[in-house]
Amino acid sequence: MALTIDGKAIAKQIRQEVKSGVAALLQEKARIPKIVAVEIGHDDASESYTRNQARTAERLGIHHRLDSLPADAPFSAVKEHLNDLAADPKVTGIMLQMPLPSHLDESACRAQIPLALDVEAVTPEAAGRVLQNTHTVAPCTAMAAMLCLESACPEGLSGLTVAIVGRSGIVGRPLAMLLLHANATPIICHTRTKDLASTLRSADVVIAAAGRPNLVTGDMVSNGAIAIDVGTNWIESENRLVGDMDFEGVAAKASAITPVPGGVGPVTVAVLMRNALILAQ
Ligand code: NAP
Repeated sequence: MALTIDGKAIAKQIRQEVKSGVAALLQEKARIPKIVAVEIGHDDASESYTRNQARTAERLGIHHRLDSLPADAPFSAVKEHLNDLAADPKVTGIMLQMPLPSHLDESACRAQIPLALDVEAVTPEAAGRVLQNTHTVAPCTAMAAMLCLESACPEGLSGLTVAIVGRSGIVGRPLAMLLLHANATPIICHTRTKDLASTLRSADVVIAAAGRPNLVTGDMVSNGAIAIDVGTNWIESENRLVGDMDFEGVAAKASAITPVPGGVGPVTVAVLMRNALILAQ
């Protein structure tokens, strides 16, 4: 049976470091991190994520504010709001809550956030920095998956073949870059990948970030592989959160696995707080 990677413990350690960092800024009378989350319209899932962020920020001494714009806000209004936030010297980080209403272009909106305030590392400039390995902060979920993986690999990731299921701009792609910088060999899989099962079986590590419950089953991972489940899928009929992996089946083959909930999720929020501290510093 696989070792369960304790995301809550990893997150706790990061939060402690952030709390000390914020306390040090207070003592130096330096600028305290202040994150402003901007939501356009309303989304229930996004609301619970924002509430969780606000609670965590408060515990660490980080200022957090939610600005709400109406669902029909035109691009010009979003741009103006983001530009006003960028001009406020007290604001050290800006987040744009997803999903956006369909009339707004995600990349165009994100591109309004200056690199120095891009706490989630989602702007084109931040993506370029990650590509070049010159970033100061990385996309939170991709970094959280890295930290969970590193916790199960005390000898480092060098030489490991890592198959990632998912190629989104916030998870799969930046994660592949972070892995490459750590001298691993990433394979990015997606819906057009031929024979996903044999590709995953060829890897030392499988990371699922597809948003499909039970996509990765025990027969798709090799004996002793490390399994990182990024997926968060709410199953309404069962009133519970599940990942992209069949936990029992994969855990029976893997040497280590992240649970859902309690794996990558809590680490993601902690990484966001760490990013906020780094940008304020
Ligand atoms: P996304 O933008 O929807 O991307 C999903 C990716 O998975 C796409 O690249 C898609 O391939 C691929 N995919 C979907 N079904 C597949 C299949 N059957 N076989 C192979 N590839 C498949 O999702 P995302 O934003 O990256 O998020 C991925 C998951 O992570 C979601 O469950 C999300 O809720 C979760 N998430 C968790 C956290 C956290 O803190 N734990 C944070 C963010 C996201 P194509 O490109 O070919 O369509």
